[in-house]
Amino acid sequence: MRAVDKTDTKLIFAADLGGTHLRAATVDRTGRIRSRFKQNTPQAKDVNAIIHAIVAAVRECQRQASDDDISAVSLVVPGTVDVEAGAVVKAPNLPCLNGFQLAAALSSQLNLPAILENDANAAAVGEMWQGAGVGCKTIICVTLGTGVGGGIILDGKLWRGVDGSAAEIGHMCVDPFGGVACTCGSRGCLEVFASATAIVRMTREASPRYPESVLQGKEDRTAAMIFEAGQQGDELALEIFRRMGVYLGIGLANLINILNPEMIVIGGGVVNGWNLFEKHMHQQVEERAFPLLAERVKIVRAKCGDDAGLLGAARLALVRQD
Ligand SMILES: [Zn+2]
Repeated sequence: MRAVDKTDTKLIFAADLGGTHLRAATVDRTGRIRSRFKQNTPQAKDVNAIIHAIVAAVRECQRQASDDDISAVSLVVPGTVDVEAGAVVKAPNLPCLNGFQLAAALSSQLNLPAILENDANAAAVGEMWQGAGVGCKTIICVTLGTGVGGGIILDGKLWRGVDGSAAEIGHMCVDPFGGVACTCGSRGCLEVFASATAIVRMTREASPRYPESVLQGKEDRTAAMIFEAGQQGDELALEIFRRMGVYLGIGLANLINILNPEMIVIGGGVVNGWNLFEKHMHQQVEERAFPLLAERVKIVRAKCGDDAGLLGAARLALVRQD
């Protein structure tokens, strides 16, 4: 009888440190989530509060795990990461982490190996390991949330770029003349047309032309409300998702022509509006991408939902152990 290899039962503690929530899970080698929890991200200026929250979460998971041990900690953050150094380079929503050697700090407190990754990169790895991209080797993952994130996997390998800042798909320019300013300092980025924030802004801007819209008079519009209105056939909401789909399709056509991917996986909250923007997105891809490439690529919805980053983080830690 083969002795049980202890590494088969080891768990990875994966944490997704968002601007609002700290989500964490223990994940086994097969990608099964064994336990999970969520809390608010400590809104402290002091990085120690964040470290303390993560350390407390790992200890709680260690207490709950019976036979299985946590063998590594893998953390994803919303920002640029120096993976080799285990340092956060720049996290616009958590500026206290800028320049901080987060992996080393966690590792010394927990006596476990710890790694860091960018959230959108991890989501791409998660989708290829356990989600829509299973079986593929070259995929692009686009996350349409408050902003627009991206992850690129080429021939099975995450493409981070020389400085760890590759795949900023949200900051590809799709409109040089519109003048819409982006948080990155540029103008006309995909993010200002295809994010949840963009959908709300575009609805506000277009609303005077649609006096009959059910969205009139609502100052607290969210992308979800606009989607709901679109499902009911509201002309304003339909026009906004049409525009959003056109811009997204232009961005995807550029990516397809440059990278010739097998699959593009689209996730994030805005993907709930899929049936409203899908047709317009595909139309642009058909018009603008090379026919051979456009026929080849599958453009699909993400499958892992909010767990994509956690699963990707776990996968990246497991690969390091092997
Ligand atoms: Zn930008």
